[in-house]
Amino acid sequence: MGSRGNKGKMSIKLVVLDCDGTLWDHLDVSSLTLPFRQVAPDSVEDAHGVRVTLFGGTRALLAGLQERGIVISAASWNHPEPVFQIFHLLDIGRYFRHPQVEFHPDKAAMISRLLQTLAAEGLALAPSEVLYVDDRTLHIEHVRQVVGDVHFLQMGVDIAGPEGVLAYVDGIGICHSERSEESL
Ligand SMILES: [Mg+2]
Repeated sequence: MGSRGNKGKMSIKLVVLDCDGTLWDHLDVSSLTLPFRQVAPDSVEDAHGVRVTLFGGTRALLAGLQERGIVISAASWNHPEPVFQIFHLLDIGRYFRHPQVEFHPDKAAMISRLLQTLAAEGLALAPSEVLYVDDRTLHIEHVRQVVGDVHFLQMGVDIAGPEGVLAYVDGIGICHSERSEESL
């Protein structure tokens, strides 16, 4: 790796998505009571009728990343069961490669393991090829210490919604061929 301009020469090849507050509106699906059931095209309810709804744009984001050939994964501080029930009921699980859903806050460990797994499958990625999206900044410093200088977008702050992720990856792609590195 050179000391300058890596981001200008590379494009995003992996997007790691947080779940609560990033893909859907509920902020802690591990607090909900299984089983869930689908109650609308983009919504499930838990056993007590508490609703979880995908953000508008989440489906377009997942499809758009897939169309671009970008690998999609997840890093979520949750019990696996509620997240994977939602993935299944709303038919979005098929987009995610090796989603990391574990009940601890160490997203750096989750993303490190994900990158090791992908590398073992022949997809070795530089940190500058990884975009991590989360509604909280809680984890990013540690992620960068452990994983390296990944791209980061805070949902709701850096971008208004999921469509902002596509705009960002497209912008990085444009940088590759059309913009000067200085414009970054
Ligand atoms: Mg979150």
